[in-house]
Amino acid sequence: FVLNIHRRKNPSNIHKSHPRIHFANCHHLNDRPGESTTEKYFKVCSNSIEELEQWSWIEYQKGLNPCKTCKDKGLPVEQLTGIQNFQAASALSLKSDIYKLEKRLASETNPEKRTEIETLIKARQGQGRFRKKLLELYLNCPLTGLDVQSLLIASHIKPWSKCNNEERLDPFNGLMLAPNIDALFDSGLITFETDGTIKISPKIDPGNQKRLGIFPDMQLKIEPESEKYFEYHRNHVFQKEE
Ligand SMILES: [Zn+2]
Repeated sequence: FVLNIHRRKNPSNIHKSHPRIHFANCHHLNDRPGESTTEKYFKVCSNSIEELEQWSWIEYQKGLNPCKTCKDKGLPVEQLTGIQNFQAASALSLKSDIYKLEKRLASETNPEKRTEIETLIKARQGQGRFRKKLLELYLNCPLTGLDVQSLLIASHIKPWSKCNNEERLDPFNGLMLAPNIDALFDSGLITFETDGTIKISPKIDPGNQKRLGIFPDMQLKIEPESEKYFEYHRNHVFQKEE
């Protein structure tokens, strides 16, 4: 199978359907001026559709589109998982990260580098467990009350990249948040005082607060074991300045 991909990472609307997957012998790839050249497009090939789809998730954070002609000719599109929701997409992106690391490990001979890669694999596997644990603990977003499981995002209070291994897996360092709240919290545009009251960055004016569904009197319950993580967020992640 061949993926045909526009060289521009964010191509115009007309190329929104890329990366597109074809049979390797598809005439669109071979006959058509434009699609056949490597000037505007590049190709990625594999015998495995799953491998190509994982590649696409790693590079583009999106799945594959089947070529219509190839689909009619029997391209096994049912093998494409067609990820629809965010939760599943991030689970798959986690899976593809691990997959990518395992591939690197397989070809690495330097013992020091091998240990390094193995540590990374364990960490990513841990992230999957963290999400599962949080989903068991929290049934909804503590701010908005949203309880659509497929939309809730397992968010670290102290950012994952700044944590040690123990902190990465600690459920007290986690919250299940609605996507808009997760985006705000993750980028430090909101944080929480010791009593759990929301603190909104001056970068989000009242008009936009309304549009995002956040209000200055919102509050969540902070468990004593979570306070140290919130303290880190307040001091190092929150954007105090305009
Ligand atoms: Zn085709």
